[in-house]
Amino acid sequence: MPESLPLHPATVLDLPRPFASRYGVPTIRGVEAGIFTRRFFTHCLDCAFCHDWCCQFGVDVDLVHHQRILEHAAGIEARTGIPRDQWFDPDPDPDPEMPGGGSRRARVADGACVFLDRRGRGCHIHAYAAARGIDYHDLKSIIDCLYPLTFAEGVLYAAEEVDDGDLVCLDQGPTLYRGLREEVRYYFGDECVAALDAVEAAVLTGVPASATRSAAP
Ligand code: SF4
Repeated sequence: MPESLPLHPATVLDLPRPFASRYGVPTIRGVEAGIFTRRFFTHCLDCAFCHDWCCQFGVDVDLVHHQRILEHAAGIEARTGIPRDQWFDPDPDPDPEMPGGGSRRARVADGACVFLDRRGRGCHIHAYAAARGIDYHDLKSIIDCLYPLTFAEGVLYAAEEVDDGDLVCLDQGPTLYRGLREEVRYYFGDECVAALDAVEAAVLTGVPASATRSAAP
């Protein structure tokens, strides 16, 4: 019998092989144990209490999706009422783990992301895509669609707002992994989900020491 460990949520477990996203990067090689145990509300637009809390900060939009947003700038501008030259910080932030090799920061204006619908709920980019029959993944950044999962240094892990307890919809609903499993499948594929399912089972039942690494980045 393998030795079982009481896993700290920040423990990183290795995957059996690397899994590259559909954009080539990021590639995940490990996963933080806490994504299989921490919970969040998940069904954002059904939530009556968060007031779009997680969209108050803006977001790092990878350069693949930055370009796609600009290709739809006129239609998105008409929804937001904010000119396109006010959407993003001026300089890209190079990052080899981001699709396109970097990101541009979607700005905060009047206390929330420039793309947040101030008169209703949710994201103008998402609503714009839905209204035109466009898959929202084609326009929204990978960071947006995976949140509150995120990635760094080849590890799939919980966003810092989960770790520090700030995310307002924590501790109810599915686990982070179960709530976002189909998003993970979209970006990293069926084999990655099968591998993560196996790690999840190990975490929930006790995991052999040889499968663990150091704490997440
Ligand atoms: S781009 Fe949309 S989903 Fe992302 S932070 Fe801004 S409003 Fe929220």
